[in-house]
Amino acid sequence: MLKFLKQVANYTKEAVEAGRYIGQGLSVTFDHMRRRPVTVQYPYEKLIPSERFRGRIHYEFDKCIACEVCVRVCPINLPVVDWEFDKTSKKKKLKHYSIDFGVCIFCGNCVEYCPTNCLSMTEDYELAAYGRHELNYDSVALGRLPYKVTNDPMVTPLRELAYLPEGVMDPHDLPSDAPRAGNHPENLVKHEK
Ligand code: SF4
Ligand code: SF4
Repeated sequence: MLKFLKQVANYTKEAVEAGRYIGQGLSVTFDHMRRRPVTVQYPYEKLIPSERFRGRIHYEFDKCIACEVCVRVCPINLPVVDWEFDKTSKKKKLKHYSIDFGVCIFCGNCVEYCPTNCLSMTEDYELAAYGRHELNYDSVALGRLPYKVTNDPMVTPLRELAYLPEGVMDPHDLPSDAPRAGNHPENLVKHEK
């Protein structure tokens, strides 16, 4: 009898817990039913990447001194720096440089530590390709500057959620001069000075 009562008590406890978890899940669902959908009609509409967005890396061949710091600080030793020693000038002569974006984790270490600032992160996130080897960018491909979303006449640029005015959830029909939440980087630099 005692065993049976214990089983009933356990069953009741589990049923109450299950009911509580279902209630929690449904509260999230019902909360979203009150919100308007915010759908970006890509590729006709695109979100403007944030200022610190870490997209495809840009590389300047002329500034590179083939020091290989970028390789040493990369968690997967990814950049390929191909150079030969020039006996006449007694300096390294850079022949080729490449980064495989199929493997890169966009951590930004190489950009951070490059002594000549020849690497920088761009806002380019459209790296889709038909084959993974197409993502291995050589120095020419790395030297291309991305097209800014805000300069593209074919695209309606939309602000990201973090850059909308306080309380606004939908970037559509927002006036371009509407104040954003938080400070611009240049204002933050001014405050720090
Ligand atoms: S750290 Fe900069 S300068 Fe040195 S090899 Fe890499 S890209 Fe070139
Ligand atoms: S972003 Fe990170 S993973 Fe990619 S090449 Fe630079 S250091 Fe390596």
